[in-house]
Amino acid sequence: MSERKDLLLSLMGELGLGTTVQSLVAGQLRDGAGDAVVLEDPYAQVELARYSDCGAALAAEACCASAAVQKDWATGFSAARRGDVMQDVARAVIANQKPLAKLEALVAGKPIRDCRIEVAKVAEMFRYYAGWADKLHGEVIPVPSGHLNYTLREPLGVVFQITPWNAPIFTAGWQIAPAIATGNGVVIKPSELTPLTTVALVHIAEDAGLPKGLVNVLCGLGPTTGQAAIEHDAVRKVIFVGSPEAGRRVAMAAGQSLKPAVLELGGKSANIVFDDANLKHAALGAQAAIFSGAGQSCVAGSRLLVHQSAHAELTDMIAAGMNSIALGDPLDEATEVGPISNGRQFAHVSGMIAAARDEGASVRTRTSTPETGFFVPPTLLSGLGNKAAAAQTEIFGPVVTAIPFADEEEAIAIANDTLFGLAGAVWTSDVGCAHRMAAAVRAGTFWINSYKAIHVSSPFGGSLNSGFGRSSGSDALMEYTSPKSVWLDSGKTPKIAFGYVS
Ligand code: NAD
Repeated sequence: MSERKDLLLSLMGELGLGTTVQSLVAGQLRDGAGDAVVLEDPYAQVELARYSDCGAALAAEACCASAAVQKDWATGFSAARRGDVMQDVARAVIANQKPLAKLEALVAGKPIRDCRIEVAKVAEMFRYYAGWADKLHGEVIPVPSGHLNYTLREPLGVVFQITPWNAPIFTAGWQIAPAIATGNGVVIKPSELTPLTTVALVHIAEDAGLPKGLVNVLCGLGPTTGQAAIEHDAVRKVIFVGSPEAGRRVAMAAGQSLKPAVLELGGKSANIVFDDANLKHAALGAQAAIFSGAGQSCVAGSRLLVHQSAHAELTDMIAAGMNSIALGDPLDEATEVGPISNGRQFAHVSGMIAAARDEGASVRTRTSTPETGFFVPPTLLSGLGNKAAAAQTEIFGPVVTAIPFADEEEAIAIANDTLFGLAGAVWTSDVGCAHRMAAAVRAGTFWINSYKAIHVSSPFGGSLNSGFGRSSGSDALMEYTSPKSVWLDSGKTPKIAFGYVS
């Protein structure tokens, strides 16, 4: 399997990354100084690369470098010029779509066809926020006095972003684009398991004209490299995308330094099917909701709530569909679903299925999986209530728990009986019911007769254990800026006012 290693080296060479995994600090590829980290190919199950954790000293250099460049980016560049640079970055991403997608498929284990789409989405994100760069402004507020009051919308300075392994380049683009469009500098720490496409993205952006050092990438571990950057004085806000467990630690560390945080965490989303729905569409939608990406999606439809009169028919349709999904090598164009992205996650998903079986679940699963790779077969659990661990814990794998309900009221109660609040969906032909469900289910994103539709122009985020704050759309611009209120006394004689204007 040394050809997989050779492929990694050739892709890294094509993307200008050298021969080892290195952080990108102040425009330079730099070795870390900490413990060894291993990248494993989740399909071939061979070691692809080994590198040293970035460490606190290099993380501090990155924060300082970003702060130094950010000032010129925010004030020396006009807003329109910032947008022009971002348009150039978008074009450069598309020009490198093939090697970026292949690198992502190899290291993260995502099907190559999904990776190509995600790289194209990154270009779209840069284009979208490039358009916002010169359209963001403050407002004039009609205060009741002889004052002119207006607001300036200012960048925060340097923001620190932490991202997970399930959609590495997509998540990097999703967070970097709004941050730099609004004049901020960025230090980003991708998952230690999938750092390369984020390094490649920023390297490509610098070649396309992004000032070197504005965005820095730290390849390394959370508790060492991540913690050091959270605590660094130059960092003004932390944006975390990942699990609730790590999110809690990150929010606590940010809180210790009195820094705000955005948390984009996990989910246990309810995909609700009424008996008046088009069941064929609902079954396909339910499969896409949980099996695409091998279920490693924060918005995965991991709880399937089905009206009791349609439960047997719908679950039979989904179980039958499992055998026609093309599982295989992520680099193979025919592959629809790849392996679980790493060994730690594979053990977690397998353990959750075993525990559900022990708890008395009826387990329906695909009959075969490829011979190599961290494959978990698409799996449907039934016979468990919503209190079962499989219905309450984020499995983050291709495992759906089906639960029957009797009426609308019960569907809402089950859907909201979770500590998460990220996404949800309803399948019905009753438009009134659809809107009632959209209003009643606790979720930051809700789909009607659809699943997993997202776009950079629409806000995204959750509540409770799914986190807080919003990414995407114009809402992200608010997360990356702060308003300054400016008062001008328009009277002829300056008044020294102690207190409130009236
Ligand atoms: P994870 O929480 O283990 O790791 C995420 C990132 O946090 C990694 O970069 C990791 O190195 C870093 N990290 C871990 N501990 C840290 C610490 N103490 N200080 C600083 N950084 C630390 O998550 P994962 O396993 O990589 O990803 C899967 C999770 O991500 C799932 O829960 C999934 O739902 C969630 N996710 C959420 C969204 C969303 O937008 N809501 C999107 C994608 C994934």
